[in-house]
Amino acid sequence: MSAERFPSLEGGACTDLAPGVAEKYFNANAHREPFLAKTAKAICARCVIQPQCLEAAMKRTYPDRGVIGGMTASSIRAAKEWDAYDKGLRSNPPKHSRPEMPNYYEPSPASEHAAELRAIADLSFEERVYGIFLDVKKGKYQTLNQAIGEIALIHSQAMEVNHA
Ligand code: SF4
Repeated sequence: MSAERFPSLEGGACTDLAPGVAEKYFNANAHREPFLAKTAKAICARCVIQPQCLEAAMKRTYPDRGVIGGMTASSIRAAKEWDAYDKGLRSNPPKHSRPEMPNYYEPSPASEHAAELRAIADLSFEERVYGIFLDVKKGKYQTLNQAIGEIALIHSQAMEVNHA
């Protein structure tokens, strides 16, 4: 998914997803399918290249829909318009309100360690989700979006295994 849109960026969390799943989440129309777009944004929240991915998206004229770099396409367009206004490149303020920029992912040693343990253990989907809930209770995720992204990722992996 990201490799297709941003060939120079490797290692994005969306590249771990099964192709059909990545398309479904990251090409979703955020107005018609808000849940899918929210899930994609949650996956971006745990992506180590999110800052570079968003920076690349801000420099391009597409996408016309979907989620990239933690933002929906319409938010990226609005952010670009506000950026141009802030730099004095346009005189009228944009029609859309200023979008909220996503928080950058900052992995903590605790969350990385927990993720490693889950990866090597042969756990069921339910056990892995339960493990994430325990991590949330222990405060091992910096934002709830990171935990949701982790669940979305293992869900997609489980679907991939079931369809293999
Ligand atoms: S920030 Fe999101 S769209 Fe960009 S590479 Fe990471 S997961 Fe993919």
